[in-house]
Amino acid sequence: MDMQERKTTLPAPPQIPESEIHGQFRAQVVVVGEGLAGLSCALSARQQGADTLIVTGSQAPVGRGGSIFAAYSKVMEEQGIPRQDTDNFILQEFAANGFLVDQRKWYKLFNRSEEAMNWLIDLTRAAGYSVTLEDANEDDPDSPTYQPPGTHAVVSPDTARAGVGIHFALKTLEKAFLAAGGRILRCSAACKLEKKKERVTAVLCRMAESGYVRVLASQAVVLATGDFSASPELMQKYCPQYAPYFTAGGDNYDVGFAVKGLYRGEGHMMALWAGAAWQRTWPCAVMVQGSRLGSHLPYGSHRGLRMNKFGLRYCNEDMNGAYTALTTLREPEGKAYAVWDHRYAQALPWRTHGGRRTDPNTPPETVYALWESQIKTGQLLRRDSLPELLEALGLPTETAMETIRHYNDLCHQGKDPDFHKKAAYLQPIEEGPFYGCSLSDRLFFSVMGGPRTNDRMQICNEQDEPIPGLYCVGSMVGDLYAGCYNFRVPGMNYGACLTFGYLTGKEAAAERP
Ligand SMILES: Cc1cc2nc3c(=O)[nH]c(=O)nc-3n(C[C@H](O)[C@H](O)[C@H](O)COP(=O)(O)OP(=O)(O)OC[C@H]3O[C@@H](n4cnc5c(N)ncnc54)[C@H](O)[C@@H]3O)c2cc1C
Repeated sequence: MDMQERKTTLPAPPQIPESEIHGQFRAQVVVVGEGLAGLSCALSARQQGADTLIVTGSQAPVGRGGSIFAAYSKVMEEQGIPRQDTDNFILQEFAANGFLVDQRKWYKLFNRSEEAMNWLIDLTRAAGYSVTLEDANEDDPDSPTYQPPGTHAVVSPDTARAGVGIHFALKTLEKAFLAAGGRILRCSAACKLEKKKERVTAVLCRMAESGYVRVLASQAVVLATGDFSASPELMQKYCPQYAPYFTAGGDNYDVGFAVKGLYRGEGHMMALWAGAAWQRTWPCAVMVQGSRLGSHLPYGSHRGLRMNKFGLRYCNEDMNGAYTALTTLREPEGKAYAVWDHRYAQALPWRTHGGRRTDPNTPPETVYALWESQIKTGQLLRRDSLPELLEALGLPTETAMETIRHYNDLCHQGKDPDFHKKAAYLQPIEEGPFYGCSLSDRLFFSVMGGPRTNDRMQICNEQDEPIPGLYCVGSMVGDLYAGCYNFRVPGMNYGACLTFGYLTGKEAAAERP
């Protein structure tokens, strides 16, 4: 814990006089938030027979993207994909996270995600959608860009790209929840929890018109309010190094495909005021994507040679978009550039991001057309000569040319003693037209984690004792990630929203005060 963290004070709970509380609702299970986590939990609780009420600040279900991981499913079985042995992979992921994650949650996710995904598959199929598998980087299990198959996507008959259909899943779950007799209360925001002795018994919600209502929960309150990236205070305290990059969000409870900030962490604050401890891992992990323009791998980023603003190579380019974002941030002024030549489109098997696992490799003509469209938007540059390209990128031409000459020598030798990149990726850059792009833009999606949570998603106090009647699901679950959300399990967070939402709904429905 550093000085900065200790100094940051969080806001005090609001004082809400009884005279401002104008109404009362009752349910056995109250779920706060209507994203994938909240909806999965609410429907699952309702299916167990619990009278369940969602309270949400959003006008409709909320989601973004659509990659949902499950270790196995009936779709994988139908596609003839064998069950994976992920033992080694999971250990590698623990190592990548510095062994600072809660292993119980990871193994629970890998062990129970099949059941939850099959539940979602049945529901979405009955609603007229289908579920497909997104493409992943399965070429080399030893590579840090390897991803096990299992990233599912809900698609409609006219969906071109996989991984953007979260709204199909959300609509399906909401409809099923309402059809099963579940209720939704749309408010301005849930603000505070109430307790009787140690048990959480109610949520106070600010209403759009005026005042507050009290929502009584006779069995459980499940917080599912997303992340805290739009809270300067929580960011400063729990993720200070990335706080400067989250500069937006916070005032829109329906926020969709946004970068730079989503929510204010109001669920996190409600939990802390009710006696929750914070997760053990500090700082919280960030979900970030660096440029993957022009890359031959979905979620990937490799394409030729990378140089910093001095025209010097600084890394093994074999890394995915998340790692690209974080490594470029460590270079002077956070600036970096990639350069390659036209043969890259033919030299390696191409898998385009957003594709389905069953798609054939992307042919070079499609790759060139994609690059062309990115040139039109100014994201990529193409020039006939290298000095022209380097100048257009703003790189010191002489040094950068020397870096490229040296890199080409290594490519011809098929060995990279400088950064040990694998031989297949050592493609010389010598035949125009040449392509390049800046790697300096980063998309800050979200911040992961929050209250200390056990593997039953019960929120716990400093002594690791569950606060009776209080659970959380979704992005706010503590200790699931450390360092960065590294996209080696694409859609892992939605996978956790679905699996832990589904399981926690059952727990909450069975809770006996
Ligand atoms: C551009 C982008 C793309 C992404 N794509 C993916 C992807 O494909 N796969 C993936 O796994 N992850 C993806 N993510 C991360 C994604 O945001 C989370 O995985 C997911 O949305 C978390 O779901 P959730 O249910 O926890 O929270 P959310 O989906 O954020 O839902 C939070 C809910 O809580 C409500 N709420 C918030 N505060 C209050 C309050 N005080 N009172 C009442 N209601 C409140 C909100 O209105 C909303 O209904 C993406 C993120 C971004 C920014």
